[in-house]
Amino acid sequence: MKFQCRHILMLIILLTAVSYSQQIKLYGTLRPGNLIVGKADNAKVVILDNKTLALDTSGVFIFGFDRNAKGTHILKVIFKNKKSVSKKLKLKRRKYKIQRINKMKQALVTPPKYALKKIRLESKMMKEARSKVGKLKVPYFEQGFIRPVKGGKLTGVFGSQRILNGIPKSPHNGLDISVPKGTPVKASAGGKVLIAGNKFYYNGNFVLIDHGFGLTTVYLHFNKLNVKTGQTVKKGDIIGYVGTTGRSTGPHLHWGVKWYNKRIDPMSLLNLKLPKNIKNR
Ligand SMILES: [Zn+2]
Repeated sequence: MKFQCRHILMLIILLTAVSYSQQIKLYGTLRPGNLIVGKADNAKVVILDNKTLALDTSGVFIFGFDRNAKGTHILKVIFKNKKSVSKKLKLKRRKYKIQRINKMKQALVTPPKYALKKIRLESKMMKEARSKVGKLKVPYFEQGFIRPVKGGKLTGVFGSQRILNGIPKSPHNGLDISVPKGTPVKASAGGKVLIAGNKFYYNGNFVLIDHGFGLTTVYLHFNKLNVKTGQTVKKGDIIGYVGTTGRSTGPHLHWGVKWYNKRIDPMSLLNLKLPKNIKNR
């Protein structure tokens, strides 16, 4: 009898250990510019380098590393049973290309004086839209991401150092996909339209989508918009049509991603191999 009791006790201990698994699953590659999706069952708090991350009830969270991030980062998960696990995340090194563009209209490289007021106003509007980032606690990203346009040639990659008409400019923070004018552009994931902008000096007609937990994607140079500011979109909804408005030399989609203010490589979203239903994994 005594022997059986011990067995039952051991079983109870084992079951408790299983239900309080302290496993941390990370999806994505640890390198600068990449987005990582994480899952830790029974997690109560998740902290990356002293920043508390948004956490879904199912234990899902995300974080990203900026273009210029380097070194080792610490991910700490505190579980509901108060135990904690820390993980060292060592980033791989990454080199970026140099891209020279020489046929850019000079007014788009160095804007003329009359355009400065418009640019300042637009930058203020962008800041205002971006100030809402982090408030949306719906993890729209949980179903993964799709490429916003079908086919097309990649004419610009993430992170490359840009030299426009011989003048060094800030790095290219997105993917350029060359597709014909009028090609439908789809929302890479569901979310809320933070701003659907008209005729901005650099961005042209564009859409900025909040996917929750600090993740945003931006789609620039549309010929025509198909959504309005404040609208909720589903993954795959048509948000606009390809054009060449703003700072652009031909019809293409510029697709950019940020996690809060960190510049993220859109390719890292497409390369994520998330399980079909991450909530139950
Ligand atoms: Zn671009």
